[in-house]
Amino acid sequence: AVKCAGRRQVRRYQPQQDAATERFQVLARDLSVALAREELSLHFQPVFRLSDLRPVKAEALLRWTHPQLGAVSPGEFIPVAERVGLIAPVGAWVLRAACLEALRWGDVTVSVNVSAVQLLQAEFPQVVQGALRDTGLSARRLELELTETAALYEDTRAAQTLEDLRALGVRLSIDDFGSGYSNLSRLRTLPITGVKLDRSCIQGLPDGPGGPFARALLEAVLGLTRHLPLDLTAEGIENAAQLTALRDLGCPLGQGHGLSHPLTAPDFRALLHTLPPSGGQAGAAASCFR
Ligand code: C2E
Ligand code: MG
Ligand code: MG
Ligand code: MG
Repeated sequence: AVKCAGRRQVRRYQPQQDAATERFQVLARDLSVALAREELSLHFQPVFRLSDLRPVKAEALLRWTHPQLGAVSPGEFIPVAERVGLIAPVGAWVLRAACLEALRWGDVTVSVNVSAVQLLQAEFPQVVQGALRDTGLSARRLELELTETAALYEDTRAAQTLEDLRALGVRLSIDDFGSGYSNLSRLRTLPITGVKLDRSCIQGLPDGPGGPFARALLEAVLGLTRHLPLDLTAEGIENAAQLTALRDLGCPLGQGHGLSHPLTAPDFRALLHTLPPSGGQAGAAASCFR
């Protein structure tokens, strides 16, 4: 198993996720009406081909603006939705909204985060199929990001669901790879098309304290993903030094605040409109690196 820095344990402990707290109760109650009140929206973080900094994908990231509490992060309210049975309606809304938006993009893929709870629901493949059918988005332009959990690697129902999803033609990637239960041999046997390397794995690049280890890990993961072959996306690229190191190592795809923050839907469309025709030289990272 591969595991990067201990960030996960730190991030996992969130007292407000305790169902007994008042905050949890308020979020659970208000999330049930947030959809109807149109308080949810999607932002889109561009994923760039690192060789030319062209956006080839965007990750849909859910945003909730609560009327009193203001912005509540998905890291906080998704676990609440999972625990009170609201992840299915919220997840179905995200899928549909992401597919609808992607119709306006040309040949750019949309990635949608899927929680382990959704993946374990028997009807999930039909929900995905329904979103594709109702919006008319081509299946190959939809990618589902599956959080790395024990269920993903060990649950036989989840394994069947992955096969059913691939049969629809959607792309599947493992999110936050290197942060949890990473199982290298399962990369070969799962019906996935890509891996997203957790940002804790690239934090030390190029010459931070964990730099030599980060480089060795990347070389290993690059070797594996080239061999299989799988798409590899580096998450959390924050500075030019990390970008340069990743490019030099040959990492194909990347995203992060240093390249572009998550954008509103109109801002992402505007970014796509500034692109030269494909095959052109210049990329479009809205970044500080150019
Ligand atoms: P994730 O899928 O790993 O998404 C990446 C998170 O890292 C996003 O946080 C993004 O804004 C943030 N990020 C991007 N670039 C950088 C960077 O350079 N540095 C740092 N420190 N962070 C960066 P966000 O939007 O708060 O989402 C957090 C998590 O919530 C996501 O992690 C994902 O697991 C979950 N999530 C978001 N939207 C959805 C959704 O629609 N459905 C489900 N089930 N989960 C979602
Ligand atoms: Mg993700
Ligand atoms: Mg995640
Ligand atoms: Mg991630």
